[in-house]
Formats: sequence, C-alpha cells, structure tokens
Amino acid sequence: MSIYQDIINAIDNATNIVITSHKSPDGDSIGSSLGLYQFIQKMNKNVSICHPDKAPSFFNWLDNFNAIHLYESAPNKVSELITNADLLFCLDYNHLSRVGDEMQVVLEQFNGKKIVIDHHITPSIDAIITLSDTSVCSTCQLIYDIIDYSDKKQLLDVQIATPLYLGIVTDSGSFRFPSVQPRTHEIASEMLKLGVEHYKVHENTFDTNSISKMKLNGYAISEKLEIVHQNKIAIVSLSLEELERFNYQKGDTEGLVNTALSISGIQVAVLVTEQQEQIRLSFRSKGEYAVNIIANEQFNGGGHKYAAGGSSNISLKDTLDKLKSLLPNYFL
Ligand code: 5GP
Ligand code: MN
Repeated sequence: MSIYQDIINAIDNATNIVITSHKSPDGDSIGSSLGLYQFIQKMNKNVSICHPDKAPSFFNWLDNFNAIHLYESAPNKVSELITNADLLFCLDYNHLSRVGDEMQVVLEQFNGKKIVIDHHITPSIDAIITLSDTSVCSTCQLIYDIIDYSDKKQLLDVQIATPLYLGIVTDSGSFRFPSVQPRTHEIASEMLKLGVEHYKVHENTFDTNSISKMKLNGYAISEKLEIVHQNKIAIVSLSLEELERFNYQKGDTEGLVNTALSISGIQVAVLVTEQQEQIRLSFRSKGEYAVNIIANEQFNGGGHKYAAGGSSNISLKDTLDKLKSLLPNYFL
C-alpha cells in the first residue's frame, strides 16, 4: 500500500483530528491546512485547525479562514482540541519549535498519533507517517498527491483545490522557482479543470496592498538598501520605529526581500526587521548560494536553499554587524 493510502486510512481510523502548522503563517501553511481540512470534512470526519498565530489579512478571502483556532488568542481552546485529538497533522514544518515556545509545550504533551507532511530538510518530529519531500515546491503539492493517489480522489473539488492552488502559487513564487516540476503544472491544470479561478487567487492575494505598505516598501528600497560583498548581496533593514512610522501591519514587508533579490547581479538578499521581542531575518537567493545554512548555523533558523529565515536576540545594529561579518564565510 502506498504512503498516500496509509494517510487516508489513518484519517479513516481516527475520531478527532487536528491540523497544525507553523508560526507566522504563509500561503502554503494556510493553504495546506484549509485544503486538508475541507477534504477531511468531506470524508465526514471530525477535524479542526489549530495554528499558533493569525495569518495576514490578504488570506481572509479563503473559505473557512475564520474556522482556524489561534493559540495566541484562544490557548485553552487549542490545548483542549489537541489533548482530545487522536490524530495530529504537522503541515509545512518538521521541528516542533516552529510552532513557537508556548504551543510547542502542548504538542510535546500530546501522546496520540502524528503525521508530518512537509518539504523542508531534516525532519525531527516523531510521527507514525512522515511524508517529507524536499524536491517539491510546497506542502500543498503533497496534499494534492495524497488525495489524487488515494481511493478518495472523487472527493476532490474546487473548494479543496483552491487553497491548495494558493499554497503552490505562493511557495513556488508564482511557478518560477527551480522547485517547480512538470507535476506542479499537471496539478495546476487539474485544479483549473476543477474550477479553480486562478486569476482570483492571484488578485485576492497579491493585489491587496495598502498605501502605507507601498510607502514602507518604497522607503525601504530607496533609503535602507545596502549592497555589499562585491555587489552580490543586498541587505534591507527596518527598525521598529521605522515600521511604526509607516503604520506597519502584519504582511507589509512580504515580498520586500524578493524585490531586493530582483536587482541585477544580486545573488543573496536579506531582510532584517526589528520586532517587539527579537530581530527577524529573511533570506532569499538565486543561483548557487544556499541560504538555509547561515540561517540555521547563525540565526536559530533554517529553510530551503533559496528561501530561509531565522531570528536573533541581539540588537538590530549588532545583528547587522554580525550578518555582514559572516558573509565571507558563507558566500565566497
Ligand atoms: P520567510 O523569509 O518567508 O519568513 O521564510 C522563508 C522560509 O524559511 C520559510 O518558508 C521556512 O521554510 C523557513 N524559515 C523561516 N523562518 C524560520 C525559522 O525560524 N526556523 C526555520 N527552521 N525555518 C524558517
Ligand atoms: Mn511551504
């Protein structure tokens, strides 16, 4: 029997199912959670979604977006759902620390069955089934495979396919990253045949910028962009004061690191933002350089070759100094 059918059978045999994903949700974590949720509902099983924190508002057009329980606003409800579950999905992450310190404690106490579905390197979660494939662009592609290669394929419909399409689009950079495979386009084709309105997914997700977001991004590029290390690396940094000056809302710096990477000759871009409790780093690369290694070894993070993230607990200035001094070690 295939791993896909094993996952379907585990759902069939479960009573209470909870779907979790990582902190700071993106299109792939939201899309895979909602796609799997709607599929499991169509299997007539009891299922809920528990995420650490809220997704940016540009995802709120998705069906069942408001059905997601958030640990940050309802920790007791989330703890109760997880405690009462007998099957827990970990989607788009493979280290329990990715849900944040508080929710991690709840997951560590959970003693039912776990299934991990993910596309990041070095999975570390103890699970009955781990579907981990670093060669695919998104967790959403893996969720599609599970349904497509199982005996429940007939349940696949436009409601399930739409969030899965979203996750494929956002994690593949709109079908442009090297991780896109012929299979990715085959799936997209099937999704359009099911009735997914691809233009609406793009419009709802990408054409929702506020004026303050556009001004923050303009300011960041015109005033805060540094080109270093033989003109190969772009660094953009934003302090808390600067973010607040532009009325920063969650998601407002989304895409900024890619704008920096789009500069001719730039091979690595890093966005460094000061948050309330820590400094966040967001890395992107193209060509030969892998950014997950520096993120993992130096900034308590990780990710993929071309997209990684991490954090630091020293000041913004010290973080920038540390980053710049390490560049020759990681990017020859
Ligand atoms: P972003 O820059 O969009 O926040 O993150 C890019 C990618 O890096 C994510 O899809 C995720 O795979 C990875 N990533 C971001 N932050 C972290 C982190 O703190 N820890 C780990 N292990 N991976 C991260
Ligand atoms: Mn992903």
